[in-house]
Amino acid sequence: MSQMITVLGATGSIGVSTLDVIAGHPERFKVFALSGNRQFQRLAQQCITHRPRYAVVIDAQIADQLRALLEASNCLTQVLCGEQALIDIASDSEVDTVMAAIVGGAGLRSTLAAVQSGKKVLLANKEALVMAGALFMDAVAHSGTTLLPIDSEHNAIFQCLPQAYSNADRGGVSKLILSASGGPFRGWDLPQMTPVTPPQACAHPKWDMGAKISVDSATLMNKGLEIIEAQWLFKIPASQIDVVVHPQSVVHSMVQFVDGSVLAQLGNPDMRTPIAHALAWPERMSSGVGDLDFVALSRLDFEDPVIDNFPCLGLAYGVTEAGKDAAIVMNAANEVAVQAFLDLRIGFTQIADVVEYALNASCFNEPQSLADVEHTDKRARAMTSHRVTQLER
Ligand code: NDP
Ligand code: MG
Repeated sequence: MSQMITVLGATGSIGVSTLDVIAGHPERFKVFALSGNRQFQRLAQQCITHRPRYAVVIDAQIADQLRALLEASNCLTQVLCGEQALIDIASDSEVDTVMAAIVGGAGLRSTLAAVQSGKKVLLANKEALVMAGALFMDAVAHSGTTLLPIDSEHNAIFQCLPQAYSNADRGGVSKLILSASGGPFRGWDLPQMTPVTPPQACAHPKWDMGAKISVDSATLMNKGLEIIEAQWLFKIPASQIDVVVHPQSVVHSMVQFVDGSVLAQLGNPDMRTPIAHALAWPERMSSGVGDLDFVALSRLDFEDPVIDNFPCLGLAYGVTEAGKDAAIVMNAANEVAVQAFLDLRIGFTQIADVVEYALNASCFNEPQSLADVEHTDKRARAMTSHRVTQLER
C-alpha cells in the first residue's frame, strides 16, 4: 500500500529534496497535496510532475496565477488558498504522512494540525517545536502519532538512540552531542563579521539551504534552536546536550553512553538521507545520496564553539535556563532580525543585539494554550520590528 503524503513547504529546499526522494519510489508514495508561498511557478511545475489533488498558497492573487498556469497545462490539481487550507491538507483523513517544511512560525498551525490528527509527521520546521514544545509534545502523546526528526542532527540522534531510551535510566544514555558545521564564519571574530553581507552569510560551506536557516547557521542561532528542539524531542535537559563544531559535516551527531561508548550517524551532507530515513522508517530505502568515501575524506575535525564570537548561541543557552515562553520570544525576535538583515536594514552582528534586546525587554510566562503562544510571538515580533526601525535611523 502506498503512503499518501502532504508536503508543506514543497517549494523550499527541504520540499524539493523531499519530492526528489519521493520521485525515486513511485510505488511507495502518492502526493496528496503540496504547498508553497511565493514561488508559484515552481509549485506549478511540481504539480504537473506529481499530480497532487491539492496545491495550497497563502495569497489569493498568487493562487489565481497558479490556477492559470495549471489550466494552461491541463493539470487537474485544485488550488486552495489561506492558512485554513494548509491545516486542511495537513489533517485530511486521506493523508498518512506530512512533511512539515514551512520555514518559521508560519508553519506552526499546520504542523500542529498534522500532529493532532495523528499523521506520521516528518518534522523539518524546528521553529514550530521551539515555539510550542510543550503543547506539541502533549499533542504527540495524545494522538499517538509518530514524530520523526528531519533536522540532520536530530535524525542522527534518533538513529543512534537505544530501544530502551524511554526506560528510567534512559537506556544508559548520558548525553547527546550535537554537531555544528560552524557555518561560513567559523574562526572569525565579531569585528570581522560586522560588515558581512547576506550573500556571504547564505553561502554555507557544506549545506544548500533556504535563506533563513542559512543565516541562522552563520550566527549559530540554528544550533541554539536545535538544542531546544533536542530538549523537546528527546525529553532531556540542556545540561545533557553538548555542541561540538565539526566542519566536515559528516558526523551528523552522536549519543554518549554511561559505559564510554559513543554511537554516531555519518553520511554525506545531503538532506535526502534523513528525509529518506524518515519516509521509509522503520524500513530503509535509497535516497539518491552517494556512499561516503572515507579515504577521500581522510580526516574528521572537532572543536569547541567560541560563544564570545557567536552570541546567539549564548542567548539560546540563557533561554533554556529561563524556560517558560522565553524560546518563543527568542525565535520571534530572531525571525524578524534575520529578515531585517536579509533586507539590508541591519548588519549581521546586530541580529544578536536585537534578539538580546527583545529577551531583556520581556518577562516570561508559562504558555497554557496555542493562543498564549501566538500572543507572545506577536508581541515579540512587534517589539523587535520597532527596535529594528530604531536601529535603522
Ligand atoms: P526554504 O526557505 O527553502 O523554504 C521554505 C518553504 O516555506 C517554502 O516552500 C516557502 O514557500 C514556504 N513559506 C515561506 N513562508 C511561508 C508562509 N508565510 N506561509 C506558508 N509557507 C511559507 O526553507 P528550508 O527548506 O531551508 O527550511 C524549511 C524548514 O526546514 C525550516 O524550518 C528549517 O529550519 C528546516 N530545516 C532545513 C534544512 C535544510 O537543509 N534546508 C535542514 C534542517 C532543517 P516559497 O518558497 O514558495 O515562498
Ligand atoms: Mg540541523
